[in-house]
Amino acid sequence: MLGCAKSFSNRMGVHIMKYLDLEAQYLSIQREINEAIFRVIQRGQFILGPEGESLEREIAAFCGVRHAVGLNSGTDALLLALHAHGIKKGDEVITTPFTFIATAETIAQCGAIPRFVDVDEHLNLDPRLVEAAISAETRAIIPVDLYGMPPDMDAINVIAQRHTLVVIEDAAQSIGAEYKGRRAGSLGDVACVSFFPAKNLGAYGDAGMLLTDNKDIADRVRLLRNHGAPRKYFHAMVGFSSRLDELQAAILLAKLPHLVGWNKKRQEIAERYTEGLRTASVVKRIPSVPPDRTCVYQQFTLRVDRRDELIRHLAGHGIPTAVHYPLPLHLQPAFADLGLLEGEYPNAEQASREVLSLPCYPELPLSNVDDIIDRIRSF
Ligand SMILES: *Cc1c(COP(=O)(O)O)cnc(C)c1O
Repeated sequence: MLGCAKSFSNRMGVHIMKYLDLEAQYLSIQREINEAIFRVIQRGQFILGPEGESLEREIAAFCGVRHAVGLNSGTDALLLALHAHGIKKGDEVITTPFTFIATAETIAQCGAIPRFVDVDEHLNLDPRLVEAAISAETRAIIPVDLYGMPPDMDAINVIAQRHTLVVIEDAAQSIGAEYKGRRAGSLGDVACVSFFPAKNLGAYGDAGMLLTDNKDIADRVRLLRNHGAPRKYFHAMVGFSSRLDELQAAILLAKLPHLVGWNKKRQEIAERYTEGLRTASVVKRIPSVPPDRTCVYQQFTLRVDRRDELIRHLAGHGIPTAVHYPLPLHLQPAFADLGLLEGEYPNAEQASREVLSLPCYPELPLSNVDDIIDRIRSF
């Protein structure tokens, strides 16, 4: 590989853009990152230590919650949130079928049953459909801040309170987004953040965090992440091995001061796409953001006609795209035992046929954005 971020051309001389450019991001903050990494290696403390503690304090302050617990992935944050609330076999948990598998996979890992509820026009869990899905077994709701924008959380929280359900905000895609002046990660009873490398605040490996104002839950997750051990070789409960390691914590501490600026860049790119594509004939829907919230564009995702043709057309011009997500969770083989059929969640199903994500990351030059707009308009 090359030593610095460069552009590439294929054999036909077509300039190949990147869908995401983590190398360019690294080069922009190389010194801070290298310092952080060597600080940890020299200290020689790699699991549970001062970097993780600082990161927990800083992320808690950033998101506006009292407690943060570093974990080894966003998926484990969901799993441990469910465990800490005692979700078990026979329980039901309401969530959206239009999300990454982790959201529902972790429900099943606890022995509980995911109860899907269809999505609204923003492709977020539709609060108007939640109440009809609640049964005597329902214990929790997991709304997802899809593509970086929270759903109508007040509406979801009101329903949860009425039925004494726990709200677990899947904030894996939304760190920095706001809803009614509050930051994502503080919008339910607990929230799960992912620092997967491709997320807006990405580690150089797996990492995640659980956020909450509830001290009991935070304490329980702190035990669960470390083999149920309040002290060495004493185990109060059966736990997991799920700590956020010191190298990742140090890297994330170095990146955190840049997050707000990076998110602003993503928003600028999204605005430019929105302006440029508003009247493009192939575009059926451009993401819209209600006035009471913001989106941090983990993905910039359109809905389009003739998606496969458009993907090929763009690829031919060196423009990579992605589909989030091509198959809703209720139709995944992994959930075949739920016995759910095509037609059950029509909005999610239609979205899975129409969504198309465009490159959207802070280092993406605006001239590339303009090229992408032109190629879509001329399709
Ligand atoms: C990324 C993601 C997760 C899982 O996070 P990991 O850190 O990759 O385990 C969960 N939910 C959603 C919606 C995600 O996008």
